[in-house]
Amino acid sequence: MATTHLKQIAPGIFAWQPGYEATWGLANCGFVVSEGQALVIDTPYTPVLTDVFLTAARSVAGHDIPLDRVVVTHANGDHTWGLQQLPGVDVYATHAALEHQCLEPRPEQLQALIYDTDPGQPLGWYFQEHFGKFDFAGIEVLPPTTTFTGRYDFEVGQIPVELHEVGPAHTVGDLIVHLPEQRIVFAGDIVFAGDHPSHWAGPLERIAAACARILDLAPEWIVPGHGPVMTPDDLREYITYLDDLADQAYVMHGQGRTAVDAARILIKEDRYAGLGLPERLAITLSTQYRHLDQDAAAPNLLELMDHAARIAWNRPSANRSRPTTPR
Ligand SMILES: [Zn+2]
Repeated sequence: MATTHLKQIAPGIFAWQPGYEATWGLANCGFVVSEGQALVIDTPYTPVLTDVFLTAARSVAGHDIPLDRVVVTHANGDHTWGLQQLPGVDVYATHAALEHQCLEPRPEQLQALIYDTDPGQPLGWYFQEHFGKFDFAGIEVLPPTTTFTGRYDFEVGQIPVELHEVGPAHTVGDLIVHLPEQRIVFAGDIVFAGDHPSHWAGPLERIAAACARILDLAPEWIVPGHGPVMTPDDLREYITYLDDLADQAYVMHGQGRTAVDAARILIKEDRYAGLGLPERLAITLSTQYRHLDQDAAAPNLLELMDHAARIAWNRPSANRSRPTTPR
């Protein structure tokens, strides 16, 4: 389905990038291999995509290597729903990510949303446009087997690996994977490249703080959850975006505007030109507003998606027929 490749960033360290822009669900994964041991970082969204990734991983590591350890950066389905393709695998995650799994829609719920929601209405159209390419049938959601809080260190062959808990930020249970000797960080969805992020937990200040922690580790390369591999300068630019968005939210919240109106205004201004999926601003700004309102209730995910869908629906028709094939 996707044109993909496994890119070597340093000896034994690979990023698998599905190679799409302006689309949901096609997350990057990582692969670490050293001296007959391996580590998978996140799995793709579906069994089919996961098999593509694992075939590529085995082709660089050798078919005999046991793929028996996976780190999941957070509990969103596009990073975890391929786990069933690795039966018996040890799955590392934060303890908070384990609890977050119950908030996620299940694969069968998402499948029903794609096929049972009216495609003549914004939400149904948006789900089909962005999620209709995935097959979520028969997915079993597997929980992590090893959870931690704070920090967890181990080795893959000769390669030291550090897991740093940075949530709540993108979700309640985020972690980043730091490979200190190679100076590489796999950031999960703390960081998006190329598209607007959709941050569900927040606030934005915590996401910016997590990015600052990544910079403190002095990496040479940062692999975001989605989009191309970044340099520290790219990450600084992303922090500037997060800070500006937090400022805009503060001002417009103070003016009594809704989060959705604030998103529409920023899109009309073309404030963040060049970033894909601007309708996601409605999601991230709604997250920020919940913090400004000190509203501790769990977000209504369907309502957030509906806001985003309505913004995308009302954009010029050229965007509505945005190609979903690789560019
Ligand atoms: Zn993701």
